[in-house]
Amino acid sequence: HMSTAPSTPRLRSAVTSLAPYVAGRRATSAGIAPLASNESHFPPLPSVLAQVAASAGRINRYPDSAAVELRERIAAHVGVTADEVAVGPGSVGVLQQIIESVCDAGDEVVFAWRSFEAYPLLVTLAGATPVPVPLTADEGHDLPAMVAAITDRTRLVLLCTPNNPTGVTIAGADLDRFLAAVPSDVLVVIDEAYLEYATGERLDAIARYRTHPNVCVLRTFSKAYGLAGLRVGYGIATPAVAAALRRTGVPFGVSSIAQAAAIASLDAADELAGRVAAVAAERDRVTLALRALGYAVPRSQANFVWLRTTDAGREQLLSAFDAADILVRGYAGDGVRVTIADAASNDRVIRVLAGLAQAAA
Ligand code: PMP
Repeated sequence: HMSTAPSTPRLRSAVTSLAPYVAGRRATSAGIAPLASNESHFPPLPSVLAQVAASAGRINRYPDSAAVELRERIAAHVGVTADEVAVGPGSVGVLQQIIESVCDAGDEVVFAWRSFEAYPLLVTLAGATPVPVPLTADEGHDLPAMVAAITDRTRLVLLCTPNNPTGVTIAGADLDRFLAAVPSDVLVVIDEAYLEYATGERLDAIARYRTHPNVCVLRTFSKAYGLAGLRVGYGIATPAVAAALRRTGVPFGVSSIAQAAAIASLDAADELAGRVAAVAAERDRVTLALRALGYAVPRSQANFVWLRTTDAGREQLLSAFDAADILVRGYAGDGVRVTIADAASNDRVIRVLAGLAQAAA
């Protein structure tokens, strides 16, 4: 018999060489403020919980794999038709479907950096090549540099507005110039995960989709709608692109409970708008308070604020937040992101940063 050592299953190097997605730490007790993951701090609405309970009684059955009712409701909400809608397990799931739909091995995906960490991860997993383009000095997308980064191998560009983790938005006129310069066979994703929190000039991404069929708008029920735990997001794109996204999705990828909760959340849009407005007002209050303390906080249009730091400054911030039982997200080489929640939690954040500013003075 053979004397060689037993061989182990061969794994793809794109997987073994990948640094895994590291989620924000989860709060393990009531005293810990969970401000690391841009979740909604509000408990689920009673009307949403009622639909979750009703659909829980039918979990012996598969969900509607085509998510017909949810897609129709999203279509009506956005102002498109259901054949222009694809849903997935979180917008990160839809993003994976997008990459699967357009990228072959070696194709290039251009995105701003720093931005959402899942971008380089999902691109690498698909065997495609991430092409990160540094943010501008004022924490926004460098759209001319992103145009310049496009090559014959570019199949996809990811725009994130408001950008995670900086909160900065793309201006409409800049987006229009960008879309005019991008080849029409390159898909441009506009990731609007935080759209609902924007109170300034709102970029009308759907209007750009109407004039540029290579645009795909990506949105989620995880943030303003408060359904992060259920995993449901959606993409708006031409019927041909949306059909490709549905084809690349895992069969039955959005659970029946998630579909029911998303529909109930659309029914509760007015109630949710009040919650979103409260978070946006708190964000502006925290921004002004931190600027008054001397921190250079960019204008955020999302449910978080961004503190750019040196590596030493980041370690100092992280240990101060840790000592105060506040979970935040630190980014090596870049800074710290703090989610906005209720006024009491936000006040704790301000106190920590006031203490550090005082110690430095
Ligand atoms: N896009 C951006 C910019 C995000 O920040 C996030 C969540 N951190 C997502 C997409 C994905 O969210 P989900 O999969 O929960 O919809």
